[in-house]
Amino acid sequence: MTEIDVLISEVGPRDGLQSIDTIMSTEHKKEWIKAEAESGVREIEVGSFVPAKLLPQMADAFEIVQYAKDIPNLTVVALVPNFIGAKNAIDAGADKICLPLSVSETHSQANLRKSHDEVLEEIRKISEYIEQLEKSQRPEFEGNLSTAFGCTLEGKVSEDLVLKLGARMMELGCNEIGLSDTTGYANPNQIKRLIRLLNKEVGQENLKSMHLHNTRGLGLANALASLEEGITTLDSSLGGIGGCPFAPGASGNIVTEDLVFMLDAMGVETGIDINKLLEVTNKVQSFIPDESIYGFTKDSGLPIGYEKGWGIVRS
Ligand code: ZN
Repeated sequence: MTEIDVLISEVGPRDGLQSIDTIMSTEHKKEWIKAEAESGVREIEVGSFVPAKLLPQMADAFEIVQYAKDIPNLTVVALVPNFIGAKNAIDAGADKICLPLSVSETHSQANLRKSHDEVLEEIRKISEYIEQLEKSQRPEFEGNLSTAFGCTLEGKVSEDLVLKLGARMMELGCNEIGLSDTTGYANPNQIKRLIRLLNKEVGQENLKSMHLHNTRGLGLANALASLEEGITTLDSSLGGIGGCPFAPGASGNIVTEDLVFMLDAMGVETGIDINKLLEVTNKVQSFIPDESIYGFTKDSGLPIGYEKGWGIVRS
C-alpha cells in the first residue's frame, strides 16, 4: 500500500447517519462502507454502540462492525458512550473504539447523561477491561474531547479544562486523544493554539486526530490549520451527511470529497482515488434520496484536465 501523509477517517456511517431522520438499511450501510474502503479510505467509523431505543439509526452497529472487519486494509472504528458499549464494540471486533467526553459538562449531561467524573470512571473501567484482554484482541482506545472549541449550551469552553481532561484521559489509559469541534465554533487560530497547548500537556505523539464540523464554513480552513500543527488524522463525512436542520445549506461534518480534493490537489497523499470516491457519493445519494448531500466538488466536478498534485507543479 502507498504511504499516506494524512489519514482520512470517514465518520458518515456514524456521525452522519445518526443526525438524519432516514434510517439506512443494514445492506446499504454495508455497500457504502465497502465501496468507500475500495476507493482507498483506510479508516471508517461505522457505528455507535448506544441503546437502539435512543438511536434507532445505529441499532445494527454490531453486525456492521463484524461485516466491516472482513474488508481488507480498513481500520474499523466504533463510537462508545460507556463501558457496556465498549464491551459490545470489542466483542464485535472493532479495531478502535472512541469515547467522547464533552468538555462542556452541560453538553455531557445532555448527550451522555453523565458528569465528567462519571465519564472518566467509564474510561477507567474500559482501560482495565482492555488491559486484561489478550494483546491481539485489544482495540486502540481513543478519548475524544468534544465541544472543545465551544458549546451550543454553554458558549465559551475553558481551554484549561480541555487540557486537564485530556491529561486525565491519558492517565486513565487511553492510547490517544482527539479534539472535536462538535458545534462548528472553531477558527484556525483557536485550533492552532489549542493543539499547541494540548501537545505540551499530553505529548504530540498522543494527539493525532481532529473532528471538524463545517457549520460556519470554516471546516477546511480549520483542517489545514490542524495539519500545520501536526495532526495526522482528519474526520470527515461523505456528502457532509448530517447537515444541520436549522441552517439550510450548511453541512454538518466537513465533506470528505472536498477535503480529499484539497489534499489531493496539494499533493498530500491520502491513498484515496477521488474519482472513485465521487462514485461512492452517487451511490449513497441513491440510498437516501430524501436527504441532502453536500459538497462543492461533487456539485462542480473536478477541474478540466485535473491530475493529482497539479497544484504543486508550475504550469
Ligand atoms: Zn461530529
